[in-house]
Amino acid sequence: MNVYDSDKMFDILSENGYSSINNPEDADLVILNTCHIREKAGEKVYSDLGRIRKIKTNKNLRGKEMFIVVAGCVAQAEGEEIIKRAPFVDIVVGPQTYHKLPQLLKSVKKSIAPEIEISFPTEEKFDFLPKNNTHNRELSSFLTVQEGCDKFCTFCVVPYTRGSEYSRPVRDIVAEAKLLVSGGAKEIVLLGQNVNAYHGLANNGSEVGLDYVINCIADIEELDRIRFTTSHPRDMNKNLIKIFGSQKKLMPLMHLPVQSGSDKILKHMNRGHTIKDYKEIIYSLKMVRPEISFSSDFIVGYPGETDSDFDYTINLIQEIKFSQAFSFMYSPRPGTPASINNDQVAEKIKKNRLQELQKILNEERLNFNASFIGKKLNILLEKVTDSKSEFIGKSEYLQPVKVKCNQNLLGQTFNVFVESIDSNCLNARSLN
Ligand code: SAH
Ligand code: SF4
Repeated sequence: MNVYDSDKMFDILSENGYSSINNPEDADLVILNTCHIREKAGEKVYSDLGRIRKIKTNKNLRGKEMFIVVAGCVAQAEGEEIIKRAPFVDIVVGPQTYHKLPQLLKSVKKSIAPEIEISFPTEEKFDFLPKNNTHNRELSSFLTVQEGCDKFCTFCVVPYTRGSEYSRPVRDIVAEAKLLVSGGAKEIVLLGQNVNAYHGLANNGSEVGLDYVINCIADIEELDRIRFTTSHPRDMNKNLIKIFGSQKKLMPLMHLPVQSGSDKILKHMNRGHTIKDYKEIIYSLKMVRPEISFSSDFIVGYPGETDSDFDYTINLIQEIKFSQAFSFMYSPRPGTPASINNDQVAEKIKKNRLQELQKILNEERLNFNASFIGKKLNILLEKVTDSKSEFIGKSEYLQPVKVKCNQNLLGQTFNVFVESIDSNCLNARSLN
């Protein structure tokens, strides 16, 4: 979502005369769009700021101006604290107020005091964003349909940094999707912190779910592929499961974070579902779309996680066999209930558990990839390598695929024959 937000900030600023450059030394304005989800991401902001400060000082010595903006969830969570730690920052702006950037820049240019804008405004940010995209056009494009979260999992900062749940109206989503497709997008990834909790208004004023949005954008003829992320198991309703069986543009990969395989830990996390519920969703999806694969997020070392809780997670992974996954050591986040739990797990244990878990997940990913050797696979050809000798595509399951083909088929979706796999990709030749 930060990629999407950065593109939107770029759209707003390009309407105000800015353009993008590759070299921070030449920049009049530097924006760090930040992530607060784990401590490491948060701390990275300050080391990056240290680097940019030097550039700003050098520019100032040459009599030139440079403005520094910290945007995103670290800005939202830390606000004034950022100015205390890094007084050379000019603007701190949260993820719900970045549409105000032009105004903020104007006022900061007039005064020497920094601007901090981290409110949750009553107006809707999306109504103030430019309707045309000026950033780089991608074959695979993100489109935010839902933001925020009301679930308050005990480990997570999102409800505090992104605010409460909001779903954009269908009309706006379809208009943006058409614009992306007319700009060349062949794949659209619908985004939301809880994308499957989407409950926006259809054109006739009735409230509809994500399945409705998917069918609406699938009607755009030149669009080949649709994905959505990230979903919560609690919001996997019947209609959304059914649509995997009926909507062929919807890719057969479901990212469904489970976090832990232990019911006790899920309860402590306030996830609101059990492992039985999770498995039932997986099996219903397999019933409607037998070729579907699954990916997930895992947290190891949540406070109070014992060896046997961790074993339940391993058992689940071995049972479901995920085609890919993201896994993290639990990171205590300020202001969240789990961070003040006295049962914190030692760093060393967290590290060992993460290593063990990732080893198994990696084996499963490689086995999944190997199962395609000697078979056909549908890909969207997205890139040509720097040497222009190879093309890189993406399969329906998000696997990177290196393709030998005689002609330039960039932007096209077609079948390839998989010959071998490497640790990170599949090697294939075009059947054309
Ligand atoms: N809404 C999604 C997740 C969004 S956050 C869901 O409910 O599943 C993305 C991922 O970051 C989470 O799935 C979780 O695995 C990870 N994460 C969030 N907070 C974390 C923390 N405090 N420590 C470690 N990982 C965390
Ligand atoms: Fe965070 Fe997802 Fe839980 Fe919301 S549902 S609090 S975004 S982990």
